[in-house]
Amino acid sequence: ENYHEVLAENRKLYNEVQDLKGNIRVYCRIRPFLPGQSQKHSTVEFVGDDGDLIVSNPLKPGKESRKHFKFNKVFGQATSQEEVFIDTQPLIRSVLDGYNVCIFAYGQTGSGKTYTMSGPSLSSNSDWGVNYRALHDLFHISQSRRTSIVYEVGVQMVEIYNEQVRDLLSSTGPQKRLGIWNITQPNGLSVPDASMYSVNSMTDVLELMHIGLTNRATSATALNERSSRSHSVLSIHVRGTDLKTNSLLRGCLHLVDLAGSERVDRSEATGDRLKEAQHINKSLSALGDVIFALAQKSAHVPYRNSKLTQLLQSSLGGQAKTLMFVQLNPDVASYSETISALKFAERVSGVELGAARSNK
Ligand code: ADP
Repeated sequence: ENYHEVLAENRKLYNEVQDLKGNIRVYCRIRPFLPGQSQKHSTVEFVGDDGDLIVSNPLKPGKESRKHFKFNKVFGQATSQEEVFIDTQPLIRSVLDGYNVCIFAYGQTGSGKTYTMSGPSLSSNSDWGVNYRALHDLFHISQSRRTSIVYEVGVQMVEIYNEQVRDLLSSTGPQKRLGIWNITQPNGLSVPDASMYSVNSMTDVLELMHIGLTNRATSATALNERSSRSHSVLSIHVRGTDLKTNSLLRGCLHLVDLAGSERVDRSEATGDRLKEAQHINKSLSALGDVIFALAQKSAHVPYRNSKLTQLLQSSLGGQAKTLMFVQLNPDVASYSETISALKFAERVSGVELGAARSNK
């Protein structure tokens, strides 16, 4: 590559990184109506280019139900996976410069969290969600820098269900040929017990993901049920060695598909279902509280209130960068869940996190 092009690219990236450091960004994504779903009653009234969103209840027209929100971006129903990724890429690239990054998908079950993070299936690259695109991008860039920095990439996959962390890559089996990544304390590693595998290519990644997803499925009686009630965390650890100075840099990317944010009707839920609902509620509010405390510059940030925030502690606050996708199902039946997800996102949005705030 031409030297000046590389320089210009680096400068552009640098500026983007400066802009993102220490802030939480919120992107709202509205999923399309599904085949067979009536499109008559959409809650989405207006999507603006500058992150404005107006939602209302078409069955109860009037000022009461009409609400205006503003986020860093709003992706309408026609937005492709690629378009979403283009706006996510600068964060992901900064991992290779030694930053810790967290990307969450928040929303009720069926609002498109898994679609955004993983995609509908692994069969077609054009459908790939953020996590596969991120890994692809990381490999691509690390290749292009290989004459100055040599990167190693390690992957972990865990699930948090009822406040218990489960290693999805722990089992023996075909993945052993990938080898365990032999480093003691990568930056941001907060799951010391979870297996980590070094990956060199998308083939390795796809193989590992397949194993992780299979492990997730085998423990669940009904996969969809269970997966909507657990958080899944894919952690990508990057270690770079500068060939000239021999210095090390470490970065980490957590990609989190959160449990469904829907309220469970307390009068109907009993037993396991109620317990699950309480755990989800607790961990999602703990996440909101941590981000809020960071924004308020509180002396005490309540990381210890949930497994999720404990796990991600080193990647929330400080120099870390956070992005939350708030996912919406546009159907009128989801109106109240939509409003509550948007309110959660609004509470955590537009606020600055951690030590880097003086840069802005
Ligand atoms: P969640 O993870 O929030 O429960 P899913 O990602 O499983 O939701 O999405 C629910 C359904 O909607 C799936 O059938 C998914 O393929 C579809 N879907 C979600 N987002 C999109 C989108 N942007 N384009 C097309 N289909 C989508």
